[in-house]
Amino acid sequence: MPEHRAHPDVVVVGGGVIGLSIAYQLAREGSRVSVLDRRELGREASWAGAGIIAPGSEIPQALPMARLRTRSAQLYPVWSEQLREETGIDNGYRRCGSVDVAFDAKEDHDLRANAGRWRAEGIAFERLEPGDFSRVEPALNPELRAAYFVPDRAQVRNPRHLKALAVACDRRGVRLRPGVPCLGFEVSGGRVLAVRTPEGPIPCGAAVVSAGPWTETLLGPIGVRVPTPPVKGQIVLLRSDRPALRRIVEWGHHYLVPRDDGRVLVGATEEDAGFDTRPTASGARDLLDLALRLCPVLAEAALEASWAGLRPGSVDSRPVIGPAPGIENLLIATGHRRSGLQLSPATAEVIADLLLDRRPAVDLADFRPDRPSSPTEEETFRS
Ligand SMILES: Cc1cc2nc3c(=O)[nH]c(=O)nc-3n(C[C@H](O)[C@H](O)[C@H](O)COP(=O)(O)OP(=O)(O)OC[C@H]3O[C@@H](n4cnc5c(N)ncnc54)[C@H](O)[C@@H]3O)c2cc1C
Repeated sequence: MPEHRAHPDVVVVGGGVIGLSIAYQLAREGSRVSVLDRRELGREASWAGAGIIAPGSEIPQALPMARLRTRSAQLYPVWSEQLREETGIDNGYRRCGSVDVAFDAKEDHDLRANAGRWRAEGIAFERLEPGDFSRVEPALNPELRAAYFVPDRAQVRNPRHLKALAVACDRRGVRLRPGVPCLGFEVSGGRVLAVRTPEGPIPCGAAVVSAGPWTETLLGPIGVRVPTPPVKGQIVLLRSDRPALRRIVEWGHHYLVPRDDGRVLVGATEEDAGFDTRPTASGARDLLDLALRLCPVLAEAALEASWAGLRPGSVDSRPVIGPAPGIENLLIATGHRRSGLQLSPATAEVIADLLLDRRPAVDLADFRPDRPSSPTEEETFRS
């Protein structure tokens, strides 16, 4: 192993859940790390997301996304416990389970197809007929045609998880630099020498770009082309005096995520709206309609807030994880779209593997920044 690669000084650009997780993993392994964010840490999509964590399985997985998801599902409870020990912050990770529901024959057919993928992957689930709903989730609309109970789906409270990551990074000596934007990179001889900031260049042994949908613009000037189109998602937050639901409820691309304190997140839209993060009246109306259709007792809940975030897209349905083409010590970790929370621990682990010259725990060929766009995979889980 070349001497300079043993434990390089790493600058992470972008302090969302991906950048902070990478910094946390690297710091635990003894690297010196700085994290730059142009604004507060973890205030973009990572804050805005619903925090649904898809399950993994015990059996080896054939599909690349399933391997990454399974590894993350294994790491989440471990990281959550470690973060709690290190910081005293409970990130709200709970294996609360979920019900995926169908109102009509077409939706039921789609769910059966999904259940076939779960079976192939070894994911635990149970099909519930209408008389059975009340056993698992009494507040569901009794007019539903079918529901599938997935006991291992979990949730995390994003703002708490981000806080725990930031505090743990700080305690482990990571230099956290909110309000310091990366302006570009000094590159020479196929290597990044420094990250440019308004406060001057920060020399580095390696840099990781985890700047969400802003990654594309940041890398373009050094000749690295990585499309990261923003995909806007809106959420409405409701609050009941007593918890209305116990499980996450999934309906197509939409969901209800109940928190222990009576709050319910209703999500999410999927919009091509550039970098606009304003929640809209029509977005809120559609989300409220679906919330009341799924769980009629929510009609009495208080309307607490609404917001929107920008999921980082990619050239296809997979994230972008690996070395920037032509620049040896510049790594990219972005494009996680609807799954950035859930895939963050595994992403951090494989980025640390690459930086510390180990074989990544998950084969990264299908996530390389210079891969050809792959056909869209049927999603086993969406969040
Ligand atoms: C409504 C909604 C619901 C979602 N629900 C879920 C869910 O249930 N489960 C799940 O797994 N995922 C979910 N997601 C997706 C998830 O939130 C994202 O995939 C994830 O947050 C992406 O994290 P990130 O760190 O890559 O990006 P971001 O959170 O966008 O972080 C990127 C950071 O880079 C910083 N930055 C940008 N440019 C610069 C620069 N030049 N210099 C320095 N810093 C810079 C930004 O300020 C930002 O803090 C949801 C997303 C939305 C919007």
